[in-house]
Amino acid sequence: MNKERVQQLIEELLVELGEDPKREGLLKTPERVAKSWEYLTRGYHQNLENVINGAIFESESNNMVIVKDIEVYSLCEHHMLPFYGKCHIGYISRGKVLGVSKLARIADMFSRRLQIQERLNDQIARAVMDTLAPEGVGVVMECKHMCMMMRGVGKQNSLMTTSSVLGSFHDDEATRTEFLRLVGM
Ligand code: ZN
Repeated sequence: MNKERVQQLIEELLVELGEDPKREGLLKTPERVAKSWEYLTRGYHQNLENVINGAIFESESNNMVIVKDIEVYSLCEHHMLPFYGKCHIGYISRGKVLGVSKLARIADMFSRRLQIQERLNDQIARAVMDTLAPEGVGVVMECKHMCMMMRGVGKQNSLMTTSSVLGSFHDDEATRTEFLRLVGM
């Protein structure tokens, strides 16, 4: 990201909003906003390989592994406003498991981009599938969208739920039901 260029754009935006970018409280705002956007969109500069960094381990077990309540913070691509909530990821391994923090890191990498929740949900599920080739994967996300809460229809309490199920989570109803029960859906 060209930070100087972004700072300049933010300064121009402030003017168009009717602000005076030279007043004291705003003097460093373009710099802070540029820094903040760089952080909020850092997922563009990450890929699966460097996020997982080799943390794939052999395992005999083929039980269901679930990591629940992973916090996600993303930005909707339609309004560039935040949406945030929880992500639940489960899979049944076929000889390979991921280091426990890596599921959260995968969710984070795809969240830190401009997204729609549906695609974000799918990308997380596909990434686990591609990385581990497990029997199946399930991902459920529950998020609140600021673009719905503070503008538009102004609905403060609606939660959007999405899910992706792949492999046995898709084909086998008992597996899917067990997953959804364990994540409290
Ligand atoms: Zn939106």
